[in-house]
Amino acid sequence: MNVFPSFAELAFADLTTIGVGGPISHFVEPTSRVGIIEAVEDADRAGLPLCVIGGGSNMLAADDAFEGVVVRDGCRAITVPDEAAPVENGEPVVHVNAEAGCNWDDFVAFAVGLGLTGVEGLSGIPGTVGASVVQNIGAYGQEVAASVESAEVWDRETKRVQYLPAADLRFAYRSSALKTSMYAAPGIPGPKYFPTPRYVVLSVTFRLTHRSHGVVGNGQLAKALGVEIGDKLETTAIRAAVLSVRAAKGMLEDAGRYANPAMQGTKREENIRAALDSQRAATGVEGPDWDRHSCGSFFMNPILPAAVASALPADAPRFPALAADGSPAVKTSAAWLIDHAGFHKGYALVAEAPAALSSRHTLALTNRGGAKSSDLAALAAAVRDGVRSAYGVRLVPEPVVIGMNLVAD
Ligand SMILES: Cc1cc2nc3c(=O)[nH]c(=O)nc-3n(C[C@H](O)[C@H](O)[C@H](O)COP(=O)(O)OP(=O)(O)OC[C@H]3O[C@@H](n4cnc5c(N)ncnc54)[C@H](O)[C@@H]3O)c2cc1C
Repeated sequence: MNVFPSFAELAFADLTTIGVGGPISHFVEPTSRVGIIEAVEDADRAGLPLCVIGGGSNMLAADDAFEGVVVRDGCRAITVPDEAAPVENGEPVVHVNAEAGCNWDDFVAFAVGLGLTGVEGLSGIPGTVGASVVQNIGAYGQEVAASVESAEVWDRETKRVQYLPAADLRFAYRSSALKTSMYAAPGIPGPKYFPTPRYVVLSVTFRLTHRSHGVVGNGQLAKALGVEIGDKLETTAIRAAVLSVRAAKGMLEDAGRYANPAMQGTKREENIRAALDSQRAATGVEGPDWDRHSCGSFFMNPILPAAVASALPADAPRFPALAADGSPAVKTSAAWLIDHAGFHKGYALVAEAPAALSSRHTLALTNRGGAKSSDLAALAAAVRDGVRSAYGVRLVPEPVVIGMNLVAD
């Protein structure tokens, strides 16, 4: 087990993509499966708050000290258990297992490099394999749900390892049974298992297809590639286009974060080098790209009853969706609501404030250097309240918010 050498000084600011958050009392990074279970169990037995952290890319922690245990999974292996690709429904299927601490984009690069399709549209999403199934990551027409065979989890309630098939993970839009196990209601922490779910992911087995081409599943991506939605293209070309569209929107993490000693060893060196090279090429500078110091999309796209959606302006985006109870509903765009409520790219509460909306994306709250969590919380509250008064819609933060309440009454 690695206990960070100067853990007394370690803060969430060192471990999160947005670079804010207070000191951490205890930090451990076990490098074996049993070590992780023991670390989680020790914290639970002692009744201490527990935060299992991956890449810290979906997390906004308060400036106050976290008086609990932060566990980062140091197991990062990727294995291919199939000796030969089994054919299922005419498709050559390959199962790939990745340990929860594996960097997500390391996993995507590995899969694409092996000639597998299924996750190339999720290229460049920061974070880890373990967290990918907690929030059912999605982008550019793909969701991880479509490629997950099962997850191996430590159940903190029954104190047992379980293998949960995809059906039991109950994937939904940016949600899963793992995520709902830590919330009482959207954005409201549950009484027992917040900020980490009841189920701690140990590894995930993916079901990918051995094929060199993938399907372009999204209009923005199709435009970048000069093709139509539904066209088939080399997975390597899809991955490259996704990374370049993300770079243009500031929706990649700042690769410079891996120079922080607290982040060392969490991502493969060759992939850090490649990310740094393309960041330099995209921004033309050596230093940080502040638009990338974010949690990604800060608010979830609201899923509304049809009657509420019909009261929105005629040009507000509307997509068919399912409500939490499975009934038909309408999904709208949080970015559209924020922009049309008057919060445009680059918006800040005061000029030169260290917390501002990204200059490239209205949905990302960014730390422009030296921001505190309280600055970001004030900005988030202003955006949330502005949208509510303009459209009567309650925005719910997508990141896990620790030690602060950002959900409106
Ligand atoms: C620039 C940027 C772009 C982004 N773009 C996208 C996008 O396109 N699509 C998308 O879906 N998301 C996106 N995100 C959000 C984020 O990358 C994902 O939610 C990601 O899966 C978070 O992974 P993580 O390891 O960083 O999780 P963390 O932030 O470390 O943790 C998030 C939650 O998961 C829990 N968790 C972490 N590891 C485990 C584990 N092993 N077992 C159980 N619980 C665990 C934590 O306790 C916490 O509750 C983006 C973020 C950024 C910064």
